[in-house]
Amino acid sequence: MPGALDARERSAALRRLAAGPLDVLVVGGGITGAGAALDAASRGLRVGLVESRDLAAGTSSRSSKLIHGGLRYLEQGDFKLVREALRERDLLVTRLAPHLVKPVPFLYPLYRKVVERPYVGAGLVIYDAMEGARRPVPHHRHLSARGALRRAPALRPERLAGAMVYYDAQVDDARYTVTVARTAASHGAIILTRASALSLLRTADAGEPGDDGAGGGPDGERVTGARIRDEETGREFDVHAAQVVVCAGVWSDLVYQASGVPAAYHVRMSKGVHLVTPRSAIDADTGMIVRTEKSVLFFIPWGERWIVGTTDTDWTGDRDEPAATGEDVDYILTAANRVLAKPLTRADVVGVYAGLRPLVAAAAQTPTTKLSREHVVDVPLPGLASIAGGKFTTYRLMARDVVDAAVAGFPRPVPASVTEQLPLLGADGYPAVRAAARRLAEDYGVPLATVEHLLGRYGSLTGEVLELVRADRSLGRPLLDGYAYLRAEVAYAVTHEGALHVEDVLARRVRLLIESPDAGAAAAPAVTAIMGGLLGWGRRRRVLEVRRYDEFAAANCEALQSPAELPEAAPIPA
Ligand SMILES: Cc1cc2nc3c(=O)[nH]c(=O)nc-3n(C[C@H](O)[C@H](O)[C@H](O)COP(=O)(O)OP(=O)(O)OC[C@H]3O[C@@H](n4cnc5c(N)ncnc54)[C@H](O)[C@@H]3O)c2cc1C
Repeated sequence: MPGALDARERSAALRRLAAGPLDVLVVGGGITGAGAALDAASRGLRVGLVESRDLAAGTSSRSSKLIHGGLRYLEQGDFKLVREALRERDLLVTRLAPHLVKPVPFLYPLYRKVVERPYVGAGLVIYDAMEGARRPVPHHRHLSARGALRRAPALRPERLAGAMVYYDAQVDDARYTVTVARTAASHGAIILTRASALSLLRTADAGEPGDDGAGGGPDGERVTGARIRDEETGREFDVHAAQVVVCAGVWSDLVYQASGVPAAYHVRMSKGVHLVTPRSAIDADTGMIVRTEKSVLFFIPWGERWIVGTTDTDWTGDRDEPAATGEDVDYILTAANRVLAKPLTRADVVGVYAGLRPLVAAAAQTPTTKLSREHVVDVPLPGLASIAGGKFTTYRLMARDVVDAAVAGFPRPVPASVTEQLPLLGADGYPAVRAAARRLAEDYGVPLATVEHLLGRYGSLTGEVLELVRADRSLGRPLLDGYAYLRAEVAYAVTHEGALHVEDVLARRVRLLIESPDAGAAAAPAVTAIMGGLLGWGRRRRVLEVRRYDEFAAANCEALQSPAELPEAAPIPA
């Protein structure tokens, strides 16, 4: 089936990659790498992608999950970034992924009547004006203090002078990344997860110049592929490609260092932490954004929960699993409680996660909040291009730019990027399938709410998940009581979405890692049983998978363990 990432057929992908040669080998399966694979494959190129862990296992599953222009960047004068991001937002909402990217309102409370309303209002006029012609979200509106409290009774009423409401959009970042990778696969890209690029092959290593006919670097050198390790077996092999495109986020400098290639930029890591609370903890029917001393704090509606964050601090520790600390948790709670009438406590927090922003650094002393979110493309040697920085929202432009740089030296003409015209899997026919929701519910004998849940995650591919339920009614049961995820979604993650381990399912295909108080540990045995059945796991493997997930879940809950006393009443933001 085109675009199915089938875990069972991973060995075929290994064979095809090793057989090469490719036109483009992408290193990194976050949103940038998945986007680059799609961009290159849809230009008719032979493409492979290697990801050392799982798709979106890095930053691309740990963001604020907003597809936005970024009001804050407007204030910093980053007009180009905001304009581009808003146009991308509208393209994704209307054409490329309307099933995954949904408009969301944000309320901006005002506390200084005379100064703040004209200032924020003028910013929002510019923000709205920067959209393209599509305008899929309403314009901003002014609210009185009473109007603000009607939308968000959770706000402290003291000194509240009114509010503005504006619109952005939100997405399940990991699901979106997997969908882009699947769409790339549907255009012929070979996607291989749990496979690391250990080092780059250079002419001296390979003995032969690359086959694209272009000349070498100053000393005749060029990159001709990469040495890959299959992380499931430890086996190493070479993949030959005319161009290697590095989309390794905060790991970019490690890829360069492993091959002794000097980089034109340095990636600085900035840690951002989010908390997840039940929806009932904060009484509001809209998202909210409030100012903090250093930046802004978002309250983002997330199904039956809120995501609250974020922080922005330099990070030099482990890149694979950046840790949220008790102080991060308390910082967010304290910042939130400045505006909430009923303070949040640690008991309200069901999940916490941390991610690393790959910021392209200038001087080391620049605070990370001030570093630009624009991206930088680097071509340090013939046969090698890389990209860093940027935002999830602008991934399509980043992908286009780095592929343009990579193919600039090809001896034959390569078509321009077509991704602006290319809906992702699940977008094609989505309005018609959505209109048929009631009929689907009757045909498959499932509640309408189940079909609506699936539509927002699989779009027009919803029928593929429902077919699994038709074949095995037990897969129509919830994965975990109190959550909408079905057991069929676990099976689908294995047969169509490339999940290889229990962690891949619970952390990224469904989001129980961040949504349930035990980080999804209670669902691990059920996930293991379904995956094990499909992948032929024996008893030992099943025990190992559950144990590994339990350890992973426990590590993720650590920041919530240490007892803490929060300051009681903090002043409302000035
Ligand atoms: C806290 C936070 C909040 C954010 N909020 C938003 C937001 O709301 N909206 C927005 O637009 N942006 C947001 N961003 C930014 C956005 O999330 C990132 O810009 C984006 O996810 C980066 O994607 P990437 O693919 O470049 O990196 P990653 O997702 O980190 O992907 C890099 C991948 O490369 C793999 N890799 C590394 N080395 C190798 C190797 N040697 N071989 C094979 N694979 C390798 C890694 O395993 C990883 O999966 C946020 C970021 C953070 C941290």
